[in-house]
Amino acid sequence: MLKIENLHAEVDGKAILKGLSLTINPGEIHAIMGPNGAGKSTLSYTLAGRPGYDVTEGEVTFDGQDLLDLEPHERAAAGLFLGFQYPVEIPGVSNVQFLREALNAQRKKRGEDALSGGDFLKRAKRQADELGLSMDMLKRPVNVGFSGGEKKRNEMVQMGIIDPKLAILDETDSGLDIDALRTVGHGINTIMRKPDKAVLLITHYQRLLDYVKPDFVHVLAGGRIVRTGGAELALELEREGYKDIAA
Ligand code: ADP
Ligand code: MG
Ligand code: MG
Repeated sequence: MLKIENLHAEVDGKAILKGLSLTINPGEIHAIMGPNGAGKSTLSYTLAGRPGYDVTEGEVTFDGQDLLDLEPHERAAAGLFLGFQYPVEIPGVSNVQFLREALNAQRKKRGEDALSGGDFLKRAKRQADELGLSMDMLKRPVNVGFSGGEKKRNEMVQMGIIDPKLAILDETDSGLDIDALRTVGHGINTIMRKPDKAVLLITHYQRLLDYVKPDFVHVLAGGRIVRTGGAELALELEREGYKDIAA
């Protein structure tokens, strides 16, 4: 589904990713862990196509398409969802409006009919109920005045409504209490743990992985994947830290 080969990327002229390779197949959940400053967020921003993140070498294909050739909105329409550590607030635009616009723009690009207001609301309500977010919250402006936990719950509802093929979640667990962590875990498991979907979980800590069991755990250090293992690698890193990982 996602194939990253020898990716080199720089930010403000500074080389951050230095030959990163990673293959994600449908049905797999991958976790990337690594020390602060390793390049984890740079990887997610580069895959998102954020301006300022320049690929200098390497290739990325998503579902057989050249991902790097697509505009950010085209990446989303192709089925890529990105969740970030600090979700944006959009005063004046309700969650429902925002999500309906986003979903219908993506459906249009794929040649599908737009969802009617009624059908959209049904879908939104089902996701909100599943994740314990009230419809009142969904009618409020995007993330404005939401607590950290509510933003994350909201992000999971967004993900459920958008129904992507591949979700890349960058430090989606940071600052969450146990209940919110459980909700995020439940969201990832119910929405994304399916044979035709995949997840890339970027996390500094092991604790989210108590709720979402990864098939593979990778260590990112010095801009490349330096080690790959199964779920047990996350536990080892939690115990031993990153000090013995060569960058
Ligand atoms: P991580 O998410 O693994 O903690 P980041 O991808 O955020 O790491 O950062 C990787 C490196 O890139 C760090 O050394 C950071 O200081 C540097 N970096 C990030 N953004 C910029 C920027 N805008 N300009 C220069 N260096 C940056
Ligand atoms: Mg960081
Ligand atoms: Mg980061």
